[in-house]
Amino acid sequence: MAQYTPMMQQYLKIKAENKDAFLFFRLGDFYEMFFNDALRASKELEITLTSRDGGAEDRIPMCGVPYHSAENYIKQLVEKGFKVAICEQVEDPKAAKGVVRREVVQLITPGTVMEGSMLEEKENNYLASLSEFNDGTYTVSYNDLTTGENNVALITGGFDAAISELYSRPVKEIVVASDFNHEQQEILEDRLGYTISHQDETSIQEEFQELVKEVRQEKLLIGFGRLLQYIQLTQKRSLDHLQPVRVVELNQYMTLDMYSKRNLELVETLRKQGKSGSLLSVVDKTITAMGARMLKKWMERPLLTKEAIEARHDQVEGLLNQFFERETLREQLTSVYDLERLAGRVAYGNVNARDLIQVRNSLRKIPEILETLGSFNHPSMKRLYEKIDPLHELKELLEGSIAEDPPITIKEGGLIQDGFHQQLDEYRDASRNGKQWIAQLEKKEREATGIRSLKIGYNRVFGYYIEVTKANLRHLPDGMYERKQTLTNAERFITPELKEKETMILEAQEKSVDLEYELFLEVREKVKTYVQELQRLAEQISRIDVLQGFAQIAESNGYVRPVYGEARLVDIKQGRHPVVENVLKDETFVPNDIYMNEETDVLLITGPNMSGKSTYMRQLALIAILGQMGSFIPCESATLPIFDQIFTRIGAADDLVSGQSTFMVEMLEANHALSNATEHSMILLDEIGRGTSTYDGMALAQSIVEHIHEHIRAKTLFSTHYHELTSLENQLERLKNVHVRAEEYEGNVVFLHQIKDGPADESYGIHVAKLADLPSSLINRATALLTQFESSNSSAEEMSASLEEEQLTMFVEERKPSEKKGTKSKSNVESYLKGLDLMEMTPMDAMNELYQLQKRI
Ligand code: ADP
Repeated sequence: MAQYTPMMQQYLKIKAENKDAFLFFRLGDFYEMFFNDALRASKELEITLTSRDGGAEDRIPMCGVPYHSAENYIKQLVEKGFKVAICEQVEDPKAAKGVVRREVVQLITPGTVMEGSMLEEKENNYLASLSEFNDGTYTVSYNDLTTGENNVALITGGFDAAISELYSRPVKEIVVASDFNHEQQEILEDRLGYTISHQDETSIQEEFQELVKEVRQEKLLIGFGRLLQYIQLTQKRSLDHLQPVRVVELNQYMTLDMYSKRNLELVETLRKQGKSGSLLSVVDKTITAMGARMLKKWMERPLLTKEAIEARHDQVEGLLNQFFERETLREQLTSVYDLERLAGRVAYGNVNARDLIQVRNSLRKIPEILETLGSFNHPSMKRLYEKIDPLHELKELLEGSIAEDPPITIKEGGLIQDGFHQQLDEYRDASRNGKQWIAQLEKKEREATGIRSLKIGYNRVFGYYIEVTKANLRHLPDGMYERKQTLTNAERFITPELKEKETMILEAQEKSVDLEYELFLEVREKVKTYVQELQRLAEQISRIDVLQGFAQIAESNGYVRPVYGEARLVDIKQGRHPVVENVLKDETFVPNDIYMNEETDVLLITGPNMSGKSTYMRQLALIAILGQMGSFIPCESATLPIFDQIFTRIGAADDLVSGQSTFMVEMLEANHALSNATEHSMILLDEIGRGTSTYDGMALAQSIVEHIHEHIRAKTLFSTHYHELTSLENQLERLKNVHVRAEEYEGNVVFLHQIKDGPADESYGIHVAKLADLPSSLINRATALLTQFESSNSSAEEMSASLEEEQLTMFVEERKPSEKKGTKSKSNVESYLKGLDLMEMTPMDAMNELYQLQKRI
């Protein structure tokens, strides 16, 4: 250490306290980075790496970014998940003895950015904390610094449930204790891509007690305390805008685990191509950014009580009934800015005059919005607006103070209106009069000298001057004019009179700018006292926005209001998949009924690939979610139960968390459903067992269906290509077969996408093979074989019986692998081989056949 210069020593000391962040070290007009930070930053930011003498033998790697354009660089680093510590000079260099004192004034991390340019408008930006307790429970806390929102939830379902709670929420960073389970930290960081930060201190200081006065449980206080400590550490400034902590009682909302949120593509698609193609993208007809954020929250927490759901539906109905009033409302909402984030910035102390103009303009619209809302007839609408406070006083304050078109900066004047403050008006008069006087002087000088091109100008160095072109110099009388500057074609002069006025004008201007700044800060402080009211108003407007969006989508896409019955009855007439129907556009989507009365718990769906099985399954889940979040739903009519949870094993089983094989993930997801579902849940299982060998998979599939049927009774849609399972209908009384129809029409297979009662026709695959122009001898052979298979394996009961037998014999005696499956499959292979028409095969066909045969041995 001693080898370095005092400044480098200071740097190293500060860096040691900010190891996991890039340290932006202020040196004059630059933020400099040194050592490893410099090496990494020069790569990440593609900026030039230089070096500097630091007192030691080796030069120190260094790179830097200009102070005024730092935001962009910080943004790049934070978006990549890094943290940036901003280290400023905190004393006047002129007054400093030795090295100027420097301190980290802010730590910018992915979860704590405040600057508008780094934020997604329609998304929250959450910082979360995760705490684990000895009894295996967790708490999840999360905060959005831009809006001040705080939430905590107690999680009893283990680590999986904890990440399900965070998953798909716009969480950017997770704070954990430094001794938090390392494996789990790795999962969060490497597999799920969160930035991880550590914080061990969890106490909540006196000044923040107000925030947690509703929170009773010790664990929740610890969880939130950790989050709060970290926020204080990074922000180092006022946190007045933090809102009271909301305790999220997870059992009051439909549970959607991580797999379901993902598989159902609620807020983003599986391929992570962003929002487009997700349910959210289809139903989002909100107008304001805060409305869009609220919609997303509603989608992730569908409701569970009939009253609450129906209250939203009533309001959607009210809005839907009156087209013109709704159009007016939509138009009015376009003039409302993001009051929620504006309130956050007001409290945070970084609003400028333009922000306040946005607040004012938004407030101007509120009375109109109230009037429009008052013109809706439905009784439910009243509740939507009666609590709205239009904040008249705040509006008046802003109307009378902030200038109409203020600049972004708050130190150069132009912020405050005339007439707001007497002294300011006087300064302004002086400066304006002065300017007028100068204009008159110009006129007077022209007349006196007869020089028509004479003009009076101003620049920063010389102040006001009289400019005369060289050609006209001879007309200028001697004496009064003092030469100040010579240009190529002109000379510039000053006079005592001019200088006197100049002093007056500039002084007045300077004083007025200073005064404006002070006045602006005063106004800003006053606005700050309204933060809570602004937040409440923002919430009401967001709610109205979400609901009008529901009315809008209901109208444009033909959604209807569902009825919630007491019984476990699902009766959807002509239901549609909200996203697929939207994608198809020209081609018409084929609507289908879904009917499951109290005596039907399982629908076993068979049918060829690509016929629409998984679309049909997802359709049910999406309809249930839409309905319970308060939206109308895509169908002709529907009676639904309220689902407490939705479980899915559907679509691509990519591994999210565990690094397991696809089949293992499939089993984990299935297990998750089986161990958590109740008779009020919905389970969607798509082609389960596909990831293993046929018998193995089929056996598993059947036992899973049986288990659900006997022990859980959740409403279950189960699609399978194991045709054998359709005979389960005879055994399991609450199971019903349905199938998707495909038809042959003029030599083409046509998918009708229609769901019909009963099992699918088994020979369908052979039809497709025929259409693919496989040799006719092969097709004939396949048809013959099918008949043979059907007669030997006619039912699932027999199948499972023979499976058991096989299992038993396997334990009794070791057999060679080739004999394992008995002679039946061997003779099948023989007869299959004989049936191949070699003369009609291409080498590629032959390869394929060989491959198929090998699989069967
Ligand atoms: P499966 O699960 O049977 O393999 P999918 O549900 O994935 O089939 O559907 C395959 C394709 O068929 C979908 O991408 C969609 O374009 C179309 N499709 C499915 N259901 C319908 C429907 N009801 N109406 C129109 N097209 C549909």
